[in-house]
Parts: sequence; structure tokens; C-alpha cells
Amino acid sequence: MSNASWWERARKVLPGGVNSPVRSFKSVPGDPLFFREAAGCRFTDEDGRSYIDWCLSWGPLILGHADPEVHAAIQEALAEGASFGAPSRREVLLAEAFLDRLPHFDQVRFVSSGTEAVMSAIRLARGFTGRDLILKFTGCYHGHADHLLVEAGSGLATFGTPSSGGVPKGFTDSTAVLPLDDVPALEAFFAEHGDKLAALIIEPFPANSGLLIQRPEFMKACRDLTRKHGALLIFDEVITGFRVARGGAAEILGITPDMGTYGKIIGGGMPVGAYATSRAIMDHVSPTGPVYQAGTLSGNPVAMAAGLATLQKIGRPGFYEDLERKGARLQTGLEKAAADAGVTATVVRQGSLFWTVFQPDAPRAIEAIDGAKMETYGRLHRALIDRGVYLAPSGWEVGFVSAAHGDDEIDATVAAVADTFLSWS
Ligand SMILES: *Cc1c(COP(=O)(O)O)cnc(C)c1O
Repeated sequence: MSNASWWERARKVLPGGVNSPVRSFKSVPGDPLFFREAAGCRFTDEDGRSYIDWCLSWGPLILGHADPEVHAAIQEALAEGASFGAPSRREVLLAEAFLDRLPHFDQVRFVSSGTEAVMSAIRLARGFTGRDLILKFTGCYHGHADHLLVEAGSGLATFGTPSSGGVPKGFTDSTAVLPLDDVPALEAFFAEHGDKLAALIIEPFPANSGLLIQRPEFMKACRDLTRKHGALLIFDEVITGFRVARGGAAEILGITPDMGTYGKIIGGGMPVGAYATSRAIMDHVSPTGPVYQAGTLSGNPVAMAAGLATLQKIGRPGFYEDLERKGARLQTGLEKAAADAGVTATVVRQGSLFWTVFQPDAPRAIEAIDGAKMETYGRLHRALIDRGVYLAPSGWEVGFVSAAHGDDEIDATVAAVADTFLSWS
């Protein structure tokens, strides 16, 4: 059966034909492709066409699709049982590997998604501090828990309004929203509300509305102000954890958060999330403390095995240096393709995370992004599909370089982009 016939069947039985909205190609031309199988940096759709994949399941597959070591670990674990609902050794092994890489945390609790990790971390931050307010930034995504589906209120309102149907106004009353890259706004907020704030949550390299790399002063202000006012600093590292460096954003920024939330890579393609913090804070979580949090499939042995095999493989010497080299090769190639064709574009990159935006400078806040240019991205997306290259189906999403992308695939992608840009001029 073809892509088109699966899409027709899917739309009858799945809302919008999908199980997660961005997959529906709402912001790029054409219909979604249905994928049948994948290996390395390529996957094949139901029409039998193969693509170089730069979306890679939205970040988890830092080793590429169907990594042989990860799959062997999954099969070994699966043969011993799919779920125990009782303690098992792989939870301990993954926790040890995790904390070995992130020594600023004492303990980690595993859950089943990034959304669940953030939701649980915020509950713990509130339970620990005895305060209700949380602060987030426009353009940062933290999963779809009700109180985080919030957008900035109008005018000078600090507290947000729900950004989704089905979220009662009262659920977002305790969530403040500020723009990124605005230290004076942050200082003013803390002066007024700092002593009531449970936690500030931020993506340390915001990567859900393009890639909005922050100035060091801004990140330092987040750390200093939370510390001064007794609020917790939460780094949402669901994308950046184990991607930007072995020790995550803290290693690069030289800033240590009080809590971290994880997902994507930590599950190696299986559903895993995690939140980590100090022993003193974690003592407040059930069963030790009064903050309730649980999960039927938390610490699932097959998922733990995938995560552990992934962490082991990416922990080998030279891994991140190799990714950095590949990321730089891709960036240089894309920049040259744009310059040669006279296309105005900026390639923003942090290690193996990259984002192409059709404007002259790298924006640091969502307010600085020209939304009208997303149509240009849509045209690029379509042209690349025709040339066997798959980018995320939205110009607001970043791309991911994996260990499985070789120089040949990087160069083939650059050539396809160059060919597309030239066809526009
Ligand atoms: C993907 C993501 C989430 C949500 O994770 P899910 O596993 O999709 O629930 C949360 N925070 C950030 C920064 C993310 O990128």
C-alpha cells in the first residue's frame, strides 16, 4: 500500500490522521509520508522511496535509526520480560550511568515521557519550596501539561492565559510568562514576585521555536535571581540532554541548575523521561516524601536497556567531537549554498542541533522571528522531499545531526539544498 492510501485510512481512524500534531504537515505543503523501515540516517516510506533523515524522531536517535548495539540491548531485555512492575536491575544501571555524566545531581526518577518529567519536576519544586508560582519563557516548550500550555497575557500582564482549548483559566494562573533575552523584564519580575516563585524553567538552548541561543548574561541572570530569591532553577534538557555535550548544557554554560528534566535521547528511541535533582529535594518525592508521583511503566526494562546502550555508546571518547565536526560541515555547506544563490538565510547551530531561518541574523527571542518566512521553509521542505532529503515538517523545528550521518550524506544534503536555492533565483 502507498503513502496516499495509508494517509486516507489514517484520517478516518486517527484525529487529523496522526498521534502528534506536528506530524500532519500542517505548516509545509503536501501530505505526510508513512514510514516503513529505517536504518542509520535513512528511512524508507510506503512508496518505497528512501530519504536522508534530519528529523530523527525529533531528537532521540543520536545514533541514527536501528543502531545495532541499541537493538541488541532491546532484544536481550525483551527476551527476559517486557515489564515487571517491580524493581529490576536495568533501572539502577541507567540511573548510575546518568548520574555519572551529571554529577551535580544525586538522584534521578524515571518516567515515560518528557511531558511527564517536566510535570513531575514542577510538582516537586512546588512541594519542596511550598510556593505555587512558576516562570517560563515564550518560545520554550515543556510538554503538554495543562499549566504549561500558556502564552503571555496581553499588555503588561505577567501571568499567562491558556494557549490550548480545554485548559481552565485557573490552571495557568500560577504560570508567569516572559520573553527570552530580556534581563530587565526578568529583574522586574523577581523584584515583584521572586519570593513567591517555586521555580523558573527554561530550555538552556531553547530549541522548540527554532534555535534561540541565549546570551550568557541572560542565563547567568536566571541562575543568580533564582538563587537570591530561594526559587529553583530547572533546566529542561529533554532535547539538549546528552546531545550538546556529555554533561549537557551545564557543562557548556558553566551554570548548574537545581533540577533537570530529560527525555528523548535517554530512552534511545523508547519512551523514557527522567527528572533529577539533589538528595535533599528528591527526599520530598513519594514514597520518601509527600509529593506524589508514580507510573505503571516507569523504569520499563526494555526502555531502560535502550537508554543504557545509547548512553554507553555516546560516552565513548571522541563522540561529541565527531558530531561537532559533522555539524560544522553541514553548517558551512548550507551557508555557502545560500550565499551562492543569493538566498538570505542564517544557519544557527549548537553542536548537532541546527536550524535554518530565512533572515539575516540569528534571533534570540521568538519575537525576533519573521513568521512570514516559514512559507519559504515550506518550499524548501517540499523541494528536498523530491530530492530524497527529509527535514522536520515545520520551519519552527530544529534539525538533528547523528553519529550515523556520514560526510557523504552531509554533502548530498548540501547539494540538494544548493540545487533548490539555485532553482529559486
Ligand atoms: C520534546 C520536549 C518535551 C516533551 O517531551 P515528550 O516526550 O514529547 O512529552 C518537553 N520539553 C522539551 C524541551 C522538549 O523538547
